Amino acid sequence: MSLNLTTKASVRLFSVIARSGARKYSPGRSARCNVTIRQFWGKSLQPQQQQQEAQQEHLVHNTSNASLLDGKPAKNIAVNIDGKPKIFDSLFLRDSCTCPQCVDPSNKQKLFQTSDIPENLEGACRTVVDKENGWMVEIIWTNDIPGYSAEHRTRHSVDWLRRALNVELELRGGVRSDERVLWDREIITKNNRWVNYEEYMVDDQTLFESLSHLNKYGLLFLKGVPESEKAVEDIAGRIGTLKDTFYGRTWDVKSKPNAKNIAYTHQFLGLHMDLLYTSNPPHLQFLHSLRARSPGGSSLFADSFHAAQLIHTASAFHFRTLCNFPVTYHYHNDAQHYHFTRPTIELFPYPKYSEPTNLAIRRVNWSPPFQAPFEARIGGENQSALANYRAAAHAFEKALSAEESVFEYRLEEGECVVFDNRRVLHARRAFDAEKGERWLKGAYVDDDVFFSRLRVLQERFEAKWIADGVVRHVVK
Ligand SMILES: [Zn+2]
Repeated sequence: MSLNLTTKASVRLFSVIARSGARKYSPGRSARCNVTIRQFWGKSLQPQQQQQEAQQEHLVHNTSNASLLDGKPAKNIAVNIDGKPKIFDSLFLRDSCTCPQCVDPSNKQKLFQTSDIPENLEGACRTVVDKENGWMVEIIWTNDIPGYSAEHRTRHSVDWLRRALNVELELRGGVRSDERVLWDREIITKNNRWVNYEEYMVDDQTLFESLSHLNKYGLLFLKGVPESEKAVEDIAGRIGTLKDTFYGRTWDVKSKPNAKNIAYTHQFLGLHMDLLYTSNPPHLQFLHSLRARSPGGSSLFADSFHAAQLIHTASAFHFRTLCNFPVTYHYHNDAQHYHFTRPTIELFPYPKYSEPTNLAIRRVNWSPPFQAPFEARIGGENQSALANYRAAAHAFEKALSAEESVFEYRLEEGECVVFDNRRVLHARRAFDAEKGERWLKGAYVDDDVFFSRLRVLQERFEAKWIADGVVRHVVK
């Protein structure tokens, strides 16, 4: 961080201090309850200059830091953000210091612990103008972490502080930015995106558009993929590290006699998700068609979020049952024993006293072929719970597999489908293995890897990024 300063202007801003009835600060009380906010505006400025400066950000002070400009420290620091005084706890301002003593400039690791910060920490602050970062608050610490010199300064840009407040407010209020478009067959048929392999591999803008589309619809197609066993690895690797599973880093879907996994046979395979019997099932699944010479075997896709929304509209009772009833998945075969229990619909936290909506759907878990026997609420006094689940699951399956919900496509050689395995269900029609070869090569990518790549591209192309449903604009 460059600290080229032009402090003169900001010092001038505070050259006239308005004294008003300051109450003594009592550290044990909440700053929000007992503060009287006093603002310090630069009366010495010329009117035109003053107007110009007034549009900028100015520091304001409360009773707790009334003598701040005399260098007296305070527990709480008020900053004028968009014309309103906002109180920040000095503990937060100290903890988020990004100076080179606090965050290693090369590996970006935090060099102290929150628990190292003394309880009696206080800060004295002023605003400065940084050539690169604009208006910043600079804080000098009293009772700083042992080992830090008296020269240690923390700086936060007003833009960063504003964003921190907005993020906190939106997280607390359950505000969710959601670009997901729920789809049925008609909607996805109109909105499907086909991307050229070459462009996807070399052009970052194309990659960004592809990943944004995946995030929105959960489904993407690539064409012109080279006839190579390595191609699927390259496509997935363009996003990041592949997820390795017991199927291998990449894996083949071929018809095999006595297959250990149902996906390897040529029977119809119903709508499902992969690896729900693991604690973190893969986010993206890639299937590259290397051979499509047997009749049949087309792929079916359905948006489970859309089906969940249909259930939500039709029956709040079924929806709640799917959110609550624990379903166990397992893979117990071939020297493997995976076992995991999860409800069918998982929600984001939503504001108290409001009903969940489709916006609150975090993920859906649906994989009937890999279901294990139920382990909870299995009978006796819980008979109604299991019966309720059966009824809700029946309604859900009906919504999922309805003709108007399902998008069918037969993947040709040189094509690759990418889909969100935590949202878009996939199925495969039976095919005649005797009449020709069918060979798909697959790979997985985890959610962390996908969202990391998407955020990096979003920061670059749109100057924002999203985490926990909250949009953060890029600030210095
Ligand atoms: Zn620092």
